[in-house]
Amino acid sequence: MTVRVVVGAQFGDEAKGKVTDYLAADARYVVRTGGGPNAGHTIHLPEGTVVLHQLASGVLRHGVVGVSGPGMVLQPISLEEEMKTLEARGLLKGDVVISDRAHALLPVHEVQDGWEDELRAKRNPEATLGTTRRGIGPAYADRAGRFGLRMADLTRPALLRERLETLYATKTQVPGLPPLDELATRLTEVGGRLAPYIRPTESLLWDAIGQGENILLEGAQSALLDVDFGTYPFVTSSHPTSAGALVGSGIPPTEVDEVIGVLKAYATRVGAGPFPTEDTGERGEFLRRVGGERGATTGRQRRCGWLDLVLLRYASRLNGFTSLAVTKVDVLGGLDEVPVCVRYSMPDGSTVRDVLPSQSDDLTKAQPVYEHLPGWPEFHERTKARLRLEGSRALPSTLRRFLDRVTEETGVPVEWVGYGPGRDETVHLGRKPASQARTELAEWAG
Ligand code: GDP
Repeated sequence: MTVRVVVGAQFGDEAKGKVTDYLAADARYVVRTGGGPNAGHTIHLPEGTVVLHQLASGVLRHGVVGVSGPGMVLQPISLEEEMKTLEARGLLKGDVVISDRAHALLPVHEVQDGWEDELRAKRNPEATLGTTRRGIGPAYADRAGRFGLRMADLTRPALLRERLETLYATKTQVPGLPPLDELATRLTEVGGRLAPYIRPTESLLWDAIGQGENILLEGAQSALLDVDFGTYPFVTSSHPTSAGALVGSGIPPTEVDEVIGVLKAYATRVGAGPFPTEDTGERGEFLRRVGGERGATTGRQRRCGWLDLVLLRYASRLNGFTSLAVTKVDVLGGLDEVPVCVRYSMPDGSTVRDVLPSQSDDLTKAQPVYEHLPGWPEFHERTKARLRLEGSRALPSTLRRFLDRVTEETGVPVEWVGYGPGRDETVHLGRKPASQARTELAEWAG
Protein backbone atom coordinates (compact mmCIF):
# COMPACT_ATOMS: atom_id res chain seq x y z
CA MET A 1 0.00 0.00 0.00
CA THR A 2 1.28 3.46 -0.87
CA VAL A 3 -0.14 6.90 -0.31
CA ARG A 4 1.43 9.29 -2.79
CA VAL A 5 0.87 13.02 -2.95
CA VAL A 6 1.28 14.76 -6.33
CA VAL A 7 1.59 18.54 -6.14
CA GLY A 8 2.73 21.37 -8.37
CA ALA A 9 6.16 22.82 -7.60
CA GLN A 10 5.88 26.10 -9.52
CA PHE A 11 3.01 28.45 -10.46
CA GLY A 12 0.64 25.80 -11.83
CA ASP A 13 0.17 24.14 -15.24
CA GLU A 14 3.17 21.84 -14.74
CA ALA A 15 1.22 18.87 -16.19
CA LYS A 16 0.04 17.49 -12.85
CA GLY A 17 -2.91 15.96 -14.70
CA LYS A 18 -0.69 13.99 -17.04
CA VAL A 19 1.61 12.82 -14.22
CA THR A 20 -1.36 11.83 -12.04
CA ASP A 21 -2.98 9.93 -14.91
CA TYR A 22 0.31 8.11 -15.52
CA LEU A 23 0.70 7.16 -11.85
CA ALA A 24 -3.00 6.28 -11.60
CA ALA A 25 -2.26 3.11 -13.55
CA ASP A 26 -1.14 1.63 -10.18
CA ALA A 27 -3.74 3.29 -7.96
CA ARG A 28 -7.16 2.29 -6.68
CA TYR A 29 -8.12 5.79 -5.53
CA VAL A 30 -7.19 9.20 -6.97
CA VAL A 31 -8.32 12.12 -4.83
CA ARG A 32 -8.48 15.77 -5.90
CA THR A 33 -7.74 17.63 -2.72
CA GLY A 34 -8.31 21.32 -3.41
CA GLY A 35 -9.39 24.02 -5.83
CA GLY A 36 -12.35 23.68 -8.14
CA PRO A 37 -13.24 24.58 -11.71
CA ASN A 38 -10.23 26.91 -11.89
CA ALA A 39 -8.08 23.83 -12.50
CA GLY A 40 -7.70 22.38 -15.99
CA HIS A 41 -5.76 19.13 -15.97
CA THR A 42 -5.08 18.19 -19.58
CA ILE A 43 -4.60 14.56 -20.55
CA HIS A 44 -3.93 13.30 -24.07
CA LEU A 45 -5.44 9.85 -24.58
CA PRO A 46 -5.37 7.80 -27.75
CA GLU A 47 -9.15 8.55 -27.96
CA GLY A 48 -8.65 12.33 -27.75
CA THR A 49 -7.73 15.14 -25.37
CA VAL A 50 -9.50 15.58 -22.06
CA VAL A 51 -9.37 18.59 -19.75
CA LEU A 52 -10.53 17.70 -16.25
CA HIS A 53 -11.69 20.57 -14.08
CA GLN A 54 -13.46 19.09 -11.06
CA LEU A 55 -13.01 15.35 -11.45
CA ALA A 56 -9.89 13.53 -10.30
CA SER A 57 -7.57 12.42 -13.10
CA GLY A 58 -8.17 8.78 -12.09
CA VAL A 59 -11.68 8.68 -13.57
CA LEU A 60 -10.15 7.98 -16.98
CA ARG A 61 -8.99 4.51 -15.93
CA HIS A 62 -10.97 1.33 -15.34
CA GLY A 63 -10.90 0.13 -11.76
CA VAL A 64 -9.94 3.52 -10.32
CA VAL A 65 -12.18 5.55 -8.02
CA GLY A 66 -11.85 9.29 -8.67
CA VAL A 67 -12.74 11.24 -5.56
CA SER A 68 -13.56 14.94 -5.67
CA GLY A 69 -12.37 15.52 -2.13
CA PRO A 70 -13.51 17.53 0.90
CA GLY A 71 -10.96 20.30 0.31
CA MET A 72 -12.52 21.24 -3.00
CA VAL A 73 -15.07 23.88 -3.93
CA LEU A 74 -17.32 22.24 -6.51
CA GLN A 75 -19.58 23.99 -8.99
CA PRO A 76 -22.44 21.45 -9.06
CA ILE A 77 -23.89 22.51 -12.42
CA SER A 78 -20.61 22.38 -14.34
CA LEU A 79 -19.54 19.26 -12.42
CA GLU A 80 -22.59 17.42 -13.68
CA GLU A 81 -21.84 18.67 -17.21
CA GLU A 82 -18.24 17.48 -16.93
CA MET A 83 -19.42 14.00 -15.95
CA LYS A 84 -22.01 13.90 -18.75
CA THR A 85 -19.54 15.04 -21.40
CA LEU A 86 -16.94 12.45 -20.39
CA GLU A 87 -19.59 9.74 -20.29
CA ALA A 88 -20.89 10.71 -23.74
CA ARG A 89 -17.32 10.40 -25.09
CA GLY A 90 -16.99 6.96 -23.49
CA LEU A 91 -14.07 8.16 -21.36
CA LEU A 92 -15.59 7.96 -17.89
CA LYS A 93 -14.05 4.60 -17.12
CA GLY A 94 -13.49 4.82 -13.37
CA ASP A 95 -16.03 5.55 -10.63
CA VAL A 96 -16.87 9.03 -9.42
CA VAL A 97 -17.29 9.84 -5.74
CA ILE A 98 -18.03 13.35 -4.46
CA SER A 99 -17.25 14.32 -0.90
CA ASP A 100 -20.31 15.36 1.11
CA ARG A 101 -18.07 17.90 2.88
CA ALA A 102 -16.79 19.62 -0.27
CA HIS A 103 -18.19 23.11 -0.53
CA ALA A 104 -20.59 24.10 -3.27
CA LEU A 105 -19.33 26.89 -5.45
CA LEU A 106 -22.42 28.71 -6.67
CA PRO A 107 -23.16 31.11 -9.53
CA VAL A 108 -23.33 33.72 -6.75
CA HIS A 109 -19.61 33.23 -6.15
CA GLU A 110 -18.80 33.55 -9.84
CA VAL A 111 -20.59 36.91 -10.05
CA GLN A 112 -18.90 38.05 -6.85
CA ASP A 113 -15.44 37.04 -8.11
CA GLY A 114 -15.71 39.24 -11.21
CA TRP A 115 -17.15 42.13 -9.19
CA GLU A 116 -14.34 41.94 -6.61
CA ASP A 117 -11.59 41.85 -9.24
CA GLU A 118 -13.11 44.90 -10.95
CA LEU A 119 -13.32 46.65 -7.59
CA ARG A 120 -9.59 46.05 -7.04
CA ALA A 121 -8.81 47.24 -10.59
CA LYS A 122 -10.78 50.46 -10.09
CA ARG A 123 -8.86 51.29 -6.93
CA ASN A 124 -5.50 50.34 -8.41
CA PRO A 125 -5.09 48.71 -11.85
CA GLU A 126 -1.90 47.00 -10.66
CA ALA A 127 -3.80 45.29 -7.87
CA THR A 128 -5.99 43.12 -10.14
CA LEU A 129 -5.23 39.52 -9.41
CA GLY A 130 -6.27 38.28 -12.81
CA THR A 131 -8.24 35.44 -11.22
CA THR A 132 -10.00 32.88 -13.40
CA ARG A 133 -13.29 34.48 -12.25
CA ARG A 134 -14.60 31.04 -11.51
CA GLY A 135 -15.71 32.03 -7.98
CA ILE A 136 -12.97 30.15 -6.13
CA GLY A 137 -11.96 32.96 -3.73
CA PRO A 138 -15.52 33.90 -2.66
CA ALA A 139 -16.47 30.22 -2.21
CA TYR A 140 -13.49 29.58 0.09
CA ALA A 141 -14.23 32.86 1.91
CA ASP A 142 -17.79 31.69 2.61
CA ARG A 143 -16.45 28.34 3.78
CA ALA A 144 -14.23 30.10 6.33
CA GLY A 145 -17.07 32.49 7.23
CA ARG A 146 -19.42 29.56 7.86
CA PHE A 147 -21.91 30.83 5.29
CA GLY A 148 -21.09 28.15 2.73
CA LEU A 149 -23.27 25.33 1.45
CA ARG A 150 -21.75 21.89 1.23
CA MET A 151 -22.44 19.24 -1.37
CA ALA A 152 -24.52 17.23 1.13
CA ASP A 153 -26.78 20.27 1.62
CA LEU A 154 -27.81 20.04 -2.03
CA THR A 155 -29.58 16.78 -1.31
CA ARG A 156 -31.83 18.38 1.37
CA PRO A 157 -34.13 20.94 -0.30
CA ALA A 158 -35.42 22.67 2.88
CA LEU A 159 -31.93 23.08 4.34
CA LEU A 160 -30.58 24.18 0.96
CA ARG A 161 -33.22 26.94 0.70
CA GLU A 162 -32.56 28.17 4.22
CA ARG A 163 -28.79 28.29 3.79
CA LEU A 164 -29.11 29.96 0.41
CA GLU A 165 -31.31 32.70 1.90
CA THR A 166 -28.71 33.37 4.61
CA LEU A 167 -25.94 33.43 2.00
CA TYR A 168 -27.84 35.94 -0.12
CA ALA A 169 -28.37 38.13 2.95
CA THR A 170 -24.56 38.50 3.20
CA LYS A 171 -24.23 39.62 -0.42
CA THR A 172 -26.58 42.59 -0.71
CA GLN A 173 -23.71 44.70 -2.08
CA VAL A 174 -22.94 42.36 -4.99
CA PRO A 175 -24.80 43.44 -8.14
CA GLY A 176 -26.35 41.04 -10.65
CA LEU A 177 -26.85 37.95 -8.50
CA PRO A 178 -29.08 35.29 -10.05
CA PRO A 179 -32.65 35.23 -8.62
CA LEU A 180 -32.69 33.17 -5.43
CA ASP A 181 -35.81 31.14 -6.28
CA GLU A 182 -34.44 30.09 -9.63
CA LEU A 183 -31.10 29.11 -8.15
CA ALA A 184 -32.70 27.14 -5.30
CA THR A 185 -34.80 25.15 -7.79
CA ARG A 186 -31.83 24.49 -10.10
CA LEU A 187 -29.57 23.38 -7.23
CA THR A 188 -32.27 21.09 -5.84
CA GLU A 189 -32.61 19.41 -9.23
CA VAL A 190 -28.85 19.02 -9.75
CA GLY A 191 -28.41 17.92 -6.13
CA GLY A 192 -31.00 15.19 -6.67
CA ARG A 193 -29.13 13.89 -9.70
CA LEU A 194 -25.71 14.07 -8.01
CA ALA A 195 -26.97 12.49 -4.76
CA PRO A 196 -25.90 8.93 -5.67
CA TYR A 197 -22.28 10.13 -5.94
CA ILE A 198 -22.20 12.25 -2.77
CA ARG A 199 -20.91 10.45 0.30
CA PRO A 200 -18.38 10.62 3.15
CA THR A 201 -14.96 10.12 1.56
CA GLU A 202 -12.59 10.28 4.52
CA SER A 203 -13.83 6.95 5.94
CA LEU A 204 -13.72 5.48 2.42
CA LEU A 205 -10.03 6.39 2.23
CA TRP A 206 -9.21 5.26 5.77
CA ASP A 207 -10.79 1.89 4.97
CA ALA A 208 -8.85 1.75 1.71
CA ILE A 209 -5.60 2.34 3.60
CA GLY A 210 -6.60 -0.44 6.01
CA GLN A 211 -7.13 -2.75 3.02
CA GLY A 212 -3.71 -1.95 1.57
CA GLU A 213 -4.94 -0.03 -1.49
CA ASN A 214 -2.77 2.46 -3.38
CA ILE A 215 -3.98 6.05 -3.09
CA LEU A 216 -2.90 9.10 -5.05
CA LEU A 217 -3.68 12.59 -3.80
CA GLU A 218 -3.84 15.01 -6.72
CA GLY A 219 -3.22 18.65 -5.93
CA ALA A 220 -4.46 21.46 -8.13
CA GLN A 221 -2.68 24.82 -8.61
CA SER A 222 0.76 24.88 -7.00
CA ALA A 223 3.04 25.69 -4.09
CA LEU A 224 3.82 29.24 -5.15
CA LEU A 225 0.11 30.01 -5.34
CA ASP A 226 -0.52 28.81 -1.77
CA VAL A 227 -2.67 31.31 0.11
CA ASP A 228 -0.11 31.58 2.94
CA PHE A 229 3.21 30.53 1.42
CA GLY A 230 2.80 31.76 -2.15
CA THR A 231 3.21 35.19 -3.69
CA TYR A 232 0.35 36.77 -1.71
CA PRO A 233 -1.99 38.37 -2.74
CA PHE A 234 -1.37 36.90 -6.21
CA VAL A 235 -2.34 33.44 -5.04
CA THR A 236 -5.23 31.03 -5.01
CA SER A 237 -7.48 30.74 -1.96
CA SER A 238 -6.50 27.26 -0.83
CA HIS A 239 -3.38 25.31 0.18
CA PRO A 240 -2.00 23.54 -2.91
CA THR A 241 0.84 21.99 -0.90
CA SER A 242 1.40 18.48 0.47
CA ALA A 243 0.02 19.66 3.83
CA GLY A 244 -3.03 21.04 2.03
CA ALA A 245 -3.53 17.69 0.28
CA LEU A 246 -3.87 16.04 3.68
CA VAL A 247 -6.35 18.58 5.00
CA GLY A 248 -8.17 18.34 1.67
CA SER A 249 -8.56 14.57 1.89
CA GLY A 250 -8.68 13.74 5.61
CA ILE A 251 -5.64 11.44 5.35
CA PRO A 252 -3.26 11.83 8.29
CA PRO A 253 0.43 12.74 7.68
CA THR A 254 1.61 9.46 9.18
CA GLU A 255 0.07 7.55 6.27
CA VAL A 256 1.92 9.39 3.51
CA ASP A 257 4.76 7.52 1.81
CA GLU A 258 5.80 9.83 -1.03
CA VAL A 259 5.46 13.48 -1.99
CA ILE A 260 6.01 14.06 -5.69
CA GLY A 261 6.68 17.57 -6.95
CA VAL A 262 5.77 18.22 -10.58
CA LEU A 263 7.67 20.89 -12.50
CA LYS A 264 8.28 21.92 -16.05
CA ALA A 265 11.84 22.16 -17.36
CA TYR A 266 11.11 25.90 -17.64
CA ALA A 267 8.53 28.11 -15.94
CA THR A 268 5.17 29.70 -16.67
CA ARG A 269 2.70 31.80 -14.78
CA VAL A 270 -0.89 32.81 -15.57
CA GLY A 271 -2.35 36.08 -14.35
CA ALA A 272 -0.64 38.79 -12.35
CA GLY A 273 2.10 38.53 -9.73
CA PRO A 274 5.90 38.39 -9.43
CA PHE A 275 7.77 36.05 -11.76
CA PRO A 276 11.53 36.66 -11.43
CA THR A 277 12.63 34.45 -14.34
CA GLU A 278 10.01 35.70 -16.81
CA ASP A 279 11.42 36.19 -20.31
CA THR A 280 9.39 38.82 -22.15
CA GLY A 281 11.62 38.65 -25.22
CA GLU A 282 11.82 36.35 -28.21
CA ARG A 283 12.91 33.34 -26.19
CA GLY A 284 9.85 33.67 -23.94
CA GLU A 285 7.73 33.80 -27.07
CA PHE A 286 9.51 30.65 -28.29
CA LEU A 287 8.56 28.82 -25.07
CA ARG A 288 4.95 29.98 -25.37
CA ARG A 289 4.68 28.84 -28.96
CA VAL A 290 6.52 25.51 -28.74
CA GLY A 291 5.11 24.68 -25.29
CA GLY A 292 1.55 25.61 -26.30
CA GLU A 293 1.37 27.79 -23.20
CA ARG A 294 -2.25 28.83 -23.16
CA GLY A 295 -4.53 28.29 -20.13
CA ALA A 296 -6.58 25.08 -20.25
CA THR A 297 -9.45 26.75 -18.33
CA THR A 298 -9.43 30.36 -19.47
CA GLY A 299 -7.52 30.21 -22.77
CA ARG A 300 -5.30 33.05 -21.51
CA GLN A 301 -1.69 33.20 -22.71
CA ARG A 302 0.75 32.08 -20.05
CA ARG A 303 3.77 34.20 -19.19
CA CYS A 304 6.93 32.18 -19.85
CA GLY A 305 10.47 32.07 -18.48
CA TRP A 306 13.22 29.83 -17.13
CA LEU A 307 13.49 27.22 -14.43
CA ASP A 308 13.90 28.96 -11.08
CA LEU A 309 15.88 26.79 -8.65
CA VAL A 310 15.44 29.32 -5.84
CA LEU A 311 11.69 28.86 -5.95
CA LEU A 312 12.07 25.12 -6.51
CA ARG A 313 14.24 24.75 -3.39
CA TYR A 314 11.66 26.75 -1.47
CA ALA A 315 8.79 24.63 -2.80
CA SER A 316 10.77 21.52 -1.99
CA ARG A 317 11.35 22.52 1.63
CA LEU A 318 7.73 23.56 1.99
CA ASN A 319 6.31 20.33 0.58
CA GLY A 320 8.97 17.82 1.64
CA PHE A 321 9.31 16.39 -1.86
CA THR A 322 10.64 12.85 -1.95
CA SER A 323 10.94 12.89 -5.74
CA LEU A 324 10.36 15.11 -8.74
CA ALA A 325 8.61 14.66 -12.08
CA VAL A 326 10.09 17.00 -14.69
CA THR A 327 7.80 17.58 -17.68
CA LYS A 328 8.03 19.20 -21.10
CA VAL A 329 11.76 18.66 -21.60
CA ASP A 330 10.97 18.21 -25.31
CA VAL A 331 9.94 21.89 -25.52
CA LEU A 332 13.54 22.94 -24.87
CA GLY A 333 14.95 20.42 -27.36
CA GLY A 334 17.19 22.07 -29.97
CA LEU A 335 18.28 25.03 -27.81
CA ASP A 336 22.06 25.57 -27.64
CA GLU A 337 21.88 26.28 -23.95
CA VAL A 338 19.29 26.20 -21.22
CA PRO A 339 19.34 28.92 -18.56
CA VAL A 340 18.47 27.99 -14.97
CA CYS A 341 18.27 30.53 -12.17
CA VAL A 342 20.50 29.44 -9.28
CA ARG A 343 20.11 32.42 -6.94
CA TYR A 344 18.73 35.95 -6.68
CA SER A 345 20.71 39.07 -6.20
CA MET A 346 18.69 41.56 -4.12
CA PRO A 347 18.86 45.39 -4.33
CA ASP A 348 20.56 45.58 -0.89
CA GLY A 349 23.41 43.36 -2.14
CA SER A 350 22.21 40.22 -0.39
CA THR A 351 21.77 36.82 -2.05
CA VAL A 352 18.65 34.67 -1.83
CA ARG A 353 18.94 30.92 -2.45
CA ASP A 354 15.90 29.14 -1.05
CA VAL A 355 13.40 31.48 0.56
CA LEU A 356 10.49 33.44 -0.77
CA PRO A 357 10.27 37.00 0.55
CA SER A 358 6.89 37.42 2.27
CA GLN A 359 6.32 40.68 0.38
CA SER A 360 5.60 40.12 -3.30
CA ASP A 361 7.03 43.56 -3.95
CA ASP A 362 10.49 42.39 -2.78
CA LEU A 363 10.35 39.39 -5.09
CA THR A 364 9.64 41.72 -8.01
CA LYS A 365 12.99 43.41 -7.33
CA ALA A 366 14.98 40.16 -7.21
CA GLN A 367 17.55 39.85 -10.02
CA PRO A 368 17.87 36.22 -11.15
CA VAL A 369 21.42 34.93 -11.57
CA TYR A 370 21.57 32.28 -14.30
CA GLU A 371 23.74 29.31 -14.99
CA HIS A 372 23.69 28.26 -18.66
CA LEU A 373 23.59 24.50 -19.12
CA PRO A 374 24.25 22.81 -22.45
CA GLY A 375 21.05 22.15 -24.40
CA TRP A 376 19.87 18.81 -25.78
CA PRO A 377 18.72 17.76 -29.25
CA GLU A 378 15.15 17.96 -30.45
CA PHE A 379 12.93 15.02 -29.59
CA HIS A 380 12.32 13.47 -32.98
CA GLU A 381 10.10 10.40 -33.35
CA ARG A 382 13.20 8.22 -33.47
CA THR A 383 14.34 9.42 -30.03
CA LYS A 384 10.84 8.94 -28.65
CA ALA A 385 10.70 5.40 -30.05
CA ARG A 386 14.06 4.61 -28.41
CA LEU A 387 12.83 6.03 -25.11
CA ARG A 388 9.77 3.81 -25.24
CA LEU A 389 11.92 0.80 -26.01
CA GLU A 390 15.04 1.37 -23.92
CA GLY A 391 13.72 3.65 -21.17
CA SER A 392 15.89 6.24 -19.48
CA ARG A 393 19.11 4.95 -21.12
CA ALA A 394 17.96 6.69 -24.30
CA LEU A 395 17.83 10.16 -22.71
CA PRO A 396 20.33 12.60 -24.24
CA SER A 397 23.37 13.00 -21.98
CA THR A 398 23.04 16.79 -21.74
CA LEU A 399 19.46 16.36 -20.57
CA ARG A 400 20.68 13.91 -17.91
CA ARG A 401 23.14 16.56 -16.84
CA PHE A 402 20.33 19.11 -16.55
CA LEU A 403 18.29 16.68 -14.43
CA ASP A 404 21.30 15.89 -12.25
CA ARG A 405 21.81 19.60 -11.71
CA VAL A 406 18.21 19.89 -10.50
CA THR A 407 18.79 17.01 -8.08
CA GLU A 408 22.10 18.43 -6.91
CA GLU A 409 20.54 21.83 -6.23
CA THR A 410 17.39 20.58 -4.51
CA GLY A 411 18.60 17.35 -2.94
CA VAL A 412 15.56 15.63 -4.47
CA PRO A 413 15.84 12.86 -7.08
CA VAL A 414 14.16 13.30 -10.44
CA GLU A 415 12.16 10.12 -10.87
CA TRP A 416 10.04 10.76 -13.96
CA VAL A 417 10.61 12.78 -17.11
CA GLY A 418 7.86 13.84 -19.53
CA TYR A 419 8.97 14.27 -23.14
CA GLY A 420 5.61 14.78 -24.86
CA PRO A 421 1.94 15.27 -24.05
CA GLY A 422 0.94 11.65 -24.78
CA ARG A 423 0.07 9.17 -22.05
CA ASP A 424 3.07 7.00 -22.97
CA GLU A 425 5.54 9.89 -23.25
CA THR A 426 6.92 9.62 -19.74
CA VAL A 427 10.07 7.80 -18.76
CA HIS A 428 10.81 6.41 -15.30
CA LEU A 429 14.36 7.06 -14.11
CA GLY A 430 14.32 5.48 -10.68
CA ARG A 431 15.74 7.42 -7.78
CA LYS A 432 19.20 8.81 -8.16
CA PRO A 433 20.25 10.33 -4.83
CA ALA A 434 21.75 13.83 -4.76
CA SER A 435 25.21 12.45 -3.80
CA GLN A 436 25.31 10.27 -6.92
CA ALA A 437 24.08 13.15 -9.10
CA ARG A 438 26.90 15.29 -7.64
CA THR A 439 29.56 12.67 -8.36
CA GLU A 440 28.38 12.23 -11.92
CA LEU A 441 28.29 15.99 -12.47
CA ALA A 442 31.86 16.24 -11.19
CA GLU A 443 32.87 13.54 -13.69
CA TRP A 444 31.11 15.52 -16.40
CA ALA A 445 32.99 18.64 -15.50
CA GLY A 446 36.06 16.51 -15.97
P1 GDP B 1 -1.87 20.88 -15.07
O1 GDP B 1 -2.98 21.83 -14.77
O2 GDP B 1 -0.73 20.97 -14.11
O3 GDP B 1 -2.35 19.46 -15.27
O4 GDP B 1 -1.25 21.33 -16.48
P2 GDP B 1 -2.02 21.74 -17.80
O5 GDP B 1 -2.88 20.64 -18.26
O6 GDP B 1 -2.67 23.07 -17.65
O7 GDP B 1 -0.79 22.01 -18.79
C1 GDP B 1 0.09 21.05 -19.20
C2 GDP B 1 0.06 21.01 -20.73
O8 GDP B 1 1.24 20.42 -21.22
C3 GDP B 1 -1.07 20.17 -21.27
O9 GDP B 1 -1.50 20.70 -22.50
C4 GDP B 1 -0.39 18.81 -21.48
O10 GDP B 1 -1.01 18.04 -22.47
C5 GDP B 1 0.97 19.22 -21.94
N1 GDP B 1 2.04 18.29 -21.57
C6 GDP B 1 2.12 17.53 -20.47
N2 GDP B 1 3.32 16.90 -20.40
C7 GDP B 1 4.00 17.29 -21.51
C8 GDP B 1 5.32 17.01 -21.99
O11 GDP B 1 6.11 16.30 -21.37
N3 GDP B 1 5.67 17.62 -23.18
C9 GDP B 1 4.82 18.44 -23.86
N4 GDP B 1 5.25 19.00 -24.99
N5 GDP B 1 3.59 18.74 -23.41
C10 GDP B 1 3.19 18.17 -22.25
